[in-house]
Amino acid sequence: MNQESTIASSLSCADDYDPNSMPVPKAREVIARFLTPVTTIERVAVRDALGRVLAQEVVSPVDVPSNDNSAMDGYAVRHADLRNDARVTLKIIGSSFAGAPHQGRLNAGEAVRIMTGGVVPPGADTIVMQEHVEAKDDQVTIGGGHKLGQNLRKAGEDLRRGQPALRRGQTIRPAETGLIASLGIAEVSVYRRLRVAFFSTGDELVSIGSPLGEGQIYDSNRYTIHGMLTRMGFEIIDMGVVRDDPKLLEAAFREAAQVADVVITSGGVSVGEADFVKDLLNSLGEVVFWKIAMKPGRPLAYGKIGKAHFFGLPGNPASVMVTFYQFVRDALLRLSGRDPIDPLPSFRVPCTSTLKKAPGRTEFQRGILSRDESGNLSVRVTGEQGSGILRSMSEANCFIILPTEQGNVTPGTMVEVQVLEGVV
Ligand code: AMP
Ligand code: MG
Repeated sequence: MNQESTIASSLSCADDYDPNSMPVPKAREVIARFLTPVTTIERVAVRDALGRVLAQEVVSPVDVPSNDNSAMDGYAVRHADLRNDARVTLKIIGSSFAGAPHQGRLNAGEAVRIMTGGVVPPGADTIVMQEHVEAKDDQVTIGGGHKLGQNLRKAGEDLRRGQPALRRGQTIRPAETGLIASLGIAEVSVYRRLRVAFFSTGDELVSIGSPLGEGQIYDSNRYTIHGMLTRMGFEIIDMGVVRDDPKLLEAAFREAAQVADVVITSGGVSVGEADFVKDLLNSLGEVVFWKIAMKPGRPLAYGKIGKAHFFGLPGNPASVMVTFYQFVRDALLRLSGRDPIDPLPSFRVPCTSTLKKAPGRTEFQRGILSRDESGNLSVRVTGEQGSGILRSMSEANCFIILPTEQGNVTPGTMVEVQVLEGVV
């Protein structure tokens, strides 16, 4: 099957769908069918691996911890020496500090002073906290009620040698860099960074630094897209603003598809403008134009230009962010080798606002999630929800997701929120 027919035939054979009212989950599912993750692997030092995706599982070369050690400051003893019904006095024969173990065994009637992390000497099987003993000179007196093995961390209880510590496809966060270091591993294999090129389209757009002429606006989408991609850790190629001129657009699409794994544009996919972009893209690759049953963000184009994946986002600034987080984010994570893909966290809370909503489309209203004095979470809507109002995204810390069939929402209704704070 040649590439020209891949997406279209995949859709028309198997799916009963309407490109003029594509449900959100359907569009996600179709896109997911065409995503093949990067395969190139790089070796990087642990610290440089932060934010990258593991290309191989990390197997522990050692037991963690490597020795039985104490979880408390106290005394290492033999449980058999202790009595439940009486106090016993043991002889302190030495000490075991973290990094400076006691040399030699512990025999009957003996104790070793031990600190947290200190290696438990052979012969000892129980740690008694220093708060529970009386120590004088080289003698320690211990009462009853101590359990065999208490306060003792067994070698390998965290991780056994040969056991997988991290999975392929996992993103390396600060916890993982520490875990890798705890195994004594200096370098790991990660997938190469995804390369994403983007540009804005529109004759009305001016870049910051130039004064606005009549009917012109500043290009903001390139800044939000830059921010969203940068936070996700990709290699980005900012191609600026491209005029609504078929020749210039063709050159930009060709160049972008050559240098990047993914090409993202904003604007030019709405009715009217879409027609010439459609013809152009279909001559360069295969692109489908959908009207997604969602608000904001109705028009969306997805396809391949050569080997590159293409996402044509709407022009309106709030729509750009919504479509990015609802479609592009997942796709980019999948392409970068992440497995599994963590969805944006979502849960249900009461909504304190009245929301206008007509059935028929999924809405992603911008919300502010907050806690009242009693600690209960609720969500309210940011002001105006127009797709051109970027302030709605700036004020929001979540999306309020209203499903297709949902109508108006009255205060007190439970709604699903998807958290953005800390993620976007
Ligand atoms: P379009 O999809 O190209 O018709 O654009 C829809 C709306 O979004 C129009 O009002 C455009 O002026 C606006 N728009 C398009 N691109 C941008 C951009 N890069 N920054 C800000 N607004 C934009
Ligand atoms: Mg335009």
